[in-house]
Amino acid sequence: AKKSGRNTYCIFKPGMDEFLARRRLIEADLAVAIDREELSLHFQPRVNLKEGRIVSYEALLRWQHPTRGQISPSDFIPIAEQSGKILQIGEWALKGACLAARDHFGGARISVNVSPVQFRQKTFVEMVESVLRETGVDPRLIEIEVTEGVLIDDVLRAQTILKSLKALGLTIALDDFGTGYSSLSYLGRFPFDTIKIDRSFVRELTTSESARAIVETIIGLGRGLKMNLIAEGVETLEEAGILASIGCQELQGYLLGHPAPIGAASHPTPDDIAD
Ligand code: C2E
Ligand code: CA
Ligand code: CA
Ligand code: CA
Repeated sequence: AKKSGRNTYCIFKPGMDEFLARRRLIEADLAVAIDREELSLHFQPRVNLKEGRIVSYEALLRWQHPTRGQISPSDFIPIAEQSGKILQIGEWALKGACLAARDHFGGARISVNVSPVQFRQKTFVEMVESVLRETGVDPRLIEIEVTEGVLIDDVLRAQTILKSLKALGLTIALDDFGTGYSSLSYLGRFPFDTIKIDRSFVRELTTSESARAIVETIIGLGRGLKMNLIAEGVETLEEAGILASIGCQELQGYLLGHPAPIGAASHPTPDDIAD
């Protein structure tokens, strides 16, 4: 296999060049996307079943490219992470989320995704602190979503940062739970307020007994640790029914509402749901 390694590489080379060329273009365009006002935030509701209302929204980045149309965050975030541009984009998103929470959502909380690259910055906590100060938002309205990746890098440092964020009055959510290097021991070692159960489990709820058992276990565990549990990517009433029956109190997904810009007609407000 080693002998043919070079040849194999040649076979894939044209595709590789194209891939890299596209990537470089996107990288260059992304560098000016904020200044050209091509980025925006959409907000997707999180619904509390018991209270029957929206309790918070997740802020999700959108990029309207001038010629390529909408580019998905799953495509451009990894590129922004590699180029370092995520630092500026992440700060921009945090600021936008703080302003939205302050002015547009009637006291509902807003959660913001934070990239591991941002988290690794020495000045991350200071950046968050200065955005909070600048926008004057009530920090209790802002939740930071982190993934397991940020925890394994350096456990002590991650603990320190999460504690500092909590000291600022923010809450912390563990995103995509169950997908990473998930070790249950993480849960107790970090001060999470919220656990987000990944969509991959939710999707299998109706067909797989084991997915159901896993979700039920995660919910029990979170309860024991006094954490708030949210199921992500809920698309059907059947999924919602199962989640409710096994004690999951908060749901997020297309069934409850798609991500939408502030003020979109399709955007349910906390009041709509309460009625
Ligand atoms: P995520 O944080 O896990 O966000 C959830 C994704 O699932 C979002 O995709 C959302 O639109 C989608 N989703 C919500 N409900 C459903 C559903 O019922 N069914 C299905 N199939 N999908 C659903 P989106 O907006 O394309 O974002 C993709 C990922 O990009 C996010 O995954 C997050 O990792 C990243 N991302 C988005 N915005 C930001 C940001 O501001 N900063 C950072 N660092 N990452 C972001
Ligand atoms: Ca998220
Ligand atoms: Ca997620
Ligand atoms: Ca994800």
